[in-house]
Amino acid sequence: MRFLIISDIHANLAAFEAVLADAKAEWDKIWFLGDLVGYGPDPNECVALLCEHEHISLSGNHDWAVLERLDLESFNGDARVAVTWTRSALTEESRAYLEQLPSNLICEHFTLAHASPRLPVWEYVIKPDIAATNFKYFETQYCLVGHTHLPIVFEQRSNGRATPYAPLYERVVPLPRTRLIINPGSVGQPRDHDPRAAYAILDVVNMTWEHRRVDYPIEVTQKKMRDIGMPHRLVDRIEHGW
Ligand code: ZN
Repeated sequence: MRFLIISDIHANLAAFEAVLADAKAEWDKIWFLGDLVGYGPDPNECVALLCEHEHISLSGNHDWAVLERLDLESFNGDARVAVTWTRSALTEESRAYLEQLPSNLICEHFTLAHASPRLPVWEYVIKPDIAATNFKYFETQYCLVGHTHLPIVFEQRSNGRATPYAPLYERVVPLPRTRLIINPGSVGQPRDHDPRAAYAILDVVNMTWEHRRVDYPIEVTQKKMRDIGMPHRLVDRIEHGW
């Protein structure tokens, strides 16, 4: 059984389509780690496309904001504009889909959480000390998270600390017997200064993991964002990957 591991699509249909085309026939089911909407111009289209495939999905902080579960004051000005537009654009069907998503769950040997196992909607697992603390908050061997938009692997050491590893792209890597927190990166808004869409393939029979990147027509998404009046900063950033 192979899983397409994706996170933080953020209503960027062109990026999502590019990932599906690039990984075509190489997976059996999608595990999506949350933030389906927010920032991008295609929230309903992304919900519909995800629902065309067999999948498990989590809810992220942007999904919560659009559903009015979070106070808009907790977002910066540009993100607030994006959330407000998304609320107005979301169909009843898309809203109903987002309403029923959990923010964390356990599948096979994996805990899935949008942000972190400790705080599934909010915490950014960027630094080793935060990763080290979070190993205490899940019981499976591996945990998959999104939210930071940064592909990375943290390995738990025997002394309780965590070691970060940069992703090895286009290399099928055996999963070690140690405990890991893995982030596949973001499909629709990468923030590691590489604007290509990020995703991963997990094979739970051979127990391997592969980080991948794929180009997508960024200008298609940017034009749609300009047409609906998204802030310039949000339009520009996806071209630079931050
Ligand atoms: Zn996000």
